[in-house]
Amino acid sequence: MLPKLGHMRRTGLTRVLGVHTTWTTVGDGEFFCPGCGGDRNYQRRTGRRRFTVLGVPLVPRGQAGPVVQCAACERRFGTEALDHPTTHRFSAMLRDAVHTVVLAVLAVGGSPSRPSLECAVGVLRAAGFDDSSEDRLAALVEALVTDAGRLPEHVGSGAGLAIELHEALDPLAAHLAPAGRESILLQGARIALADGPYSSAERDVLGTVGAALTMCTDEVADLLVAAARTPS
Ligand SMILES: [Zn+2]
Repeated sequence: MLPKLGHMRRTGLTRVLGVHTTWTTVGDGEFFCPGCGGDRNYQRRTGRRRFTVLGVPLVPRGQAGPVVQCAACERRFGTEALDHPTTHRFSAMLRDAVHTVVLAVLAVGGSPSRPSLECAVGVLRAAGFDDSSEDRLAALVEALVTDAGRLPEHVGSGAGLAIELHEALDPLAAHLAPAGRESILLQGARIALADGPYSSAERDVLGTVGAALTMCTDEVADLLVAAARTPS
């Protein structure tokens, strides 16, 4: 009998006294919803809490949120949910990263060989650049090499390449699983190996790729050795 009475008293009390939150939408956009797992629209909302007596809001009880509410599943998350890129944005970052790595590996040797270009076109097509061709790629590399030669601070230092690589890879690295990082590095390695063993410049540029992907030096070295042993 007693537990039942206690239960009745508690539910009765929460019906009399409670906290009610009124939400106001302050923005919207698209995010990757961790609740229903996909690109969704969200509303960014802040709330105002009030004590209620018999369902009537009375005394202000401060702010709630801000939160991000999914338009599909209606679940609410902290604003850190917006730090994760949408699937759409993530694919664009990945494509951009592969393109930058391909150009960096090709450009480091000056004028790329046919086998390197063929391999590079294969990598680019697999990444979604359907209209990529050897001639177009060769022209792009030539323009890059000429540009780098024109800018005095970039001559022979590879600094321009390193900056480009970091710009393309740094924002991506945090969102990639280890296998994803390895895959990007290995695609670069395959292109470097297409016309023979790594040159020291190719090793350097692949080292920069690994560092930008937050891989440690030993890990990069091991992967490069393994890639060289594997016939493509
Ligand atoms: Zn959702």
